Amino acid sequence: MGTVTCPECWSFNVEWDDVRPTGTVYTWARSHRDFMTELDVKAPYVTVLVELDDVPIRLLGILVGAGSVAIGDRVTGVFQKPDNSSWTILRWEPAA
Ligand SMILES: [Zn+2]
Repeated sequence: MGTVTCPECWSFNVEWDDVRPTGTVYTWARSHRDFMTELDVKAPYVTVLVELDDVPIRLLGILVGAGSVAIGDRVTGVFQKPDNSSWTILRWEPAA
């Protein structure tokens, strides 16, 4: 991973904060082709851009466990590490 800097002032004096993995679907798209085997998902699948509750940041991830999706849906993030991948992947599920 590259060096992390503050996007506002370019300072190297930054640290990680924990935030709740909860948010709202800002937009979404359905993919009909498999792009990366590392994602460990078969097309068609839905990718959502989620606006987090705690910070003004949007995160991209695959939506799982939902029959349908709409802008404004509430979702919860879960981290998974597929057997065939060295990546830890952020997935989104419908909020309970
Ligand atoms: Zn700064």
